[in-house]
Amino acid sequence: MTLIASHRGGALHWPENSPTAFRNTAALAVDQVEFDIHPTADGAIVVHHDATLDRTTSGTGPLATHTLAELRALTLKGTADEHMLTLAELAALFAPTPITLRMEIKPDHAHRPYPGLLAAALAVLDAAGLRGRTVVTSFLADTVAEAAGTPGLAGAIWLVAPAVQDDIGLGGIEAVARDIGCKAVGIRENRLDATVLAALRAPGLSVGAWAVNSDDAIRRVLALEVDVFTTDIPLAALAIRG
Ligand code: FE
Repeated sequence: MTLIASHRGGALHWPENSPTAFRNTAALAVDQVEFDIHPTADGAIVVHHDATLDRTTSGTGPLATHTLAELRALTLKGTADEHMLTLAELAALFAPTPITLRMEIKPDHAHRPYPGLLAAALAVLDAAGLRGRTVVTSFLADTVAEAAGTPGLAGAIWLVAPAVQDDIGLGGIEAVARDIGCKAVGIRENRLDATVLAALRAPGLSVGAWAVNSDDAIRRVLALEVDVFTTDIPLAALAIRG
């Protein structure tokens, strides 16, 4: 069966990566909840998409130069007065559910990897007993390599940006996946068809789709029988999958 991941907690249904989004996703029959993490200046880990604060919060500038207390004081746009969750809080929300965590490791505002972020996140997941129920994803190949070499995780997925797909082609994707020891890739929905799927599955890769955000796109990836897809409209995905 094709698995459904509620992307940023269902970003077209509710404010992305917000407590409301995650509470609502936790009550759904989705297979996975997708979210993004960044470190704070004082060593905490928060759930937020952008490396900067401007688009989705009342704050401005890079996220990681702020302390957790400073970030907590910000309001998430589109909410009454909700605040960024820590990774530990998100883990606590999903621990009682059967939903797999699909944790995306983000780079900083200059697109540099955050040193030690995966290790710090693993410590939080271990405290919640959720390492074995967590799939790590990233566009950063080095980060995926680190995750692929980490025992006990439920998986490591390399997210392939369309520009990278253009640049290195399907053979290049296969070669990178082999080099970094990862067994799963995520391809943008509008760059995935039966030919791409077959080519990547031939060497044994698991193939998922991301940015599957319309009813038509959902129907298409279900017909292709991709392994998993992330969607901003999990309610529609569940209804269509049936
Ligand atoms: Fe993400």
